[in-house]
Amino acid sequence: MKHHFLRWEHLLGLCLLLGASGSAIADSELDFPSNSPLRFRSDKSFKIITFGDIHWDRNCDKDQQTLRAMDTIVEAEKPDLVIYLGDNCVSDNLRAVREGYKQLTEPVVRRGIPWAATLGNHDGEHGGLTRAEVYRCMLGHPGNLSRPGPASIHGDSNFILPIMDRTGEKPAALLYVLDSNAYYKQDNLETYDWIRRDQIQWYRKASEVYRQKNQGDILPSYAFFHIPLPEFGLFYTNKSRVGIKQEDVCCSAINSGLCATILEHRDIKAIFCGHDHVNDYITGFHGLWLGYARGISYNTYGQENYAKGSRVIVLKEGKASFDTWLRLEDKQVVNVVHCK
Ligand SMILES: [Zn+2]
Repeated sequence: MKHHFLRWEHLLGLCLLLGASGSAIADSELDFPSNSPLRFRSDKSFKIITFGDIHWDRNCDKDQQTLRAMDTIVEAEKPDLVIYLGDNCVSDNLRAVREGYKQLTEPVVRRGIPWAATLGNHDGEHGGLTRAEVYRCMLGHPGNLSRPGPASIHGDSNFILPIMDRTGEKPAALLYVLDSNAYYKQDNLETYDWIRRDQIQWYRKASEVYRQKNQGDILPSYAFFHIPLPEFGLFYTNKSRVGIKQEDVCCSAINSGLCATILEHRDIKAIFCGHDHVNDYITGFHGLWLGYARGISYNTYGQENYAKGSRVIVLKEGKASFDTWLRLEDKQVVNVVHCK
C-alpha cells in the first residue's frame, strides 16, 4: 500500500511538470485521490443509486413522501454508494439546509451506506445563500464522501472518487462528480450555466494522471452532475436509447465541449444527470452513455401517472461495460440496459 502511494505521488508530480503549461490550476489544488473507502465487492460488482432533484424543504409532508420513496428504493437495492445529483435541498437558510441534509440522507446513513452529492441550480438559490455555503455546510455529515473542489476552478462540488479493486490496493474505476453550476446572466445572455473550461482542464489532467498511474491503460470512469449536456438532446433519437423524454432537455445554450473531451479521452463511459424530472432515458453514442436519473421528489413538478424512481448503476471491476435500470417507488424494476 505504502509503496503504491509513494509511486503515485511521484507520478503526479511528473505529470504536473509536463502538463503545467497553459494551466491556471495550482498544483496543490488538483486533488486526484489514490484511495477511498469505496471498493468493488468480492463478486466484482459495485452498485450506485442516483437520486435526482429531491427539492427537500424543511421536512414538509411532501418531503416525507419523497423520503418514503427513497427508503423503499434503498432497501430494495442495497447499494454500495448513493449519489445525490443536485437540487437536493432548496431551503433558504443554512440551519434548515444542514438539518435538511441530515433528514434526506437518513435512509442511507441509517444503513451505513456512504454517499456523495453535487449541487444543482436550485441549491443555494434562496435567502441570499451562496452555493459555496450550502456545499460547505453538508460536507461534514455522516457518510458523506464529497470533498471541496479545487478553489481555482468554477463550481464547488468538483471531486473524484476512486473505487478500489477487491483487495483495496489500487483504484479500479473512477467517479467524476462535477458541478454544472447554476445560471449565467451576463452580456445579454441568460441561460443555464455550463461546465467551464477550467473544469474540463481539471478533468483532462486527472484523466492523464490516472492513466499513467495505471500503466498507460485508462481506468473506466463515470461522470455525475446536475444539468444535462446539449448532447442529451442530440442523441435522444439514437437507436440505443431506452426510456422516455417528456420535457425539453433543459441544458445550457452553450456547449463547452465536455462531451468532445470525453470522447477524445475515452475513459468516461457514462454521464448521469438530473434536472429534468420527467425524462428518464439513457442513450449511447460511440461507447459513451448519457442517462437521466428520473425525478424522486414529491415537492416539485412531476407528471401524473408517472411514478417516482431512480437510476441504479452496477459497475463491474475490470470492465468498461455496466448494467443500469430504473427502480420505481413501488419496487418495480424497469428499463434494464446492458451498456457497452
Ligand atoms: Zn435543476
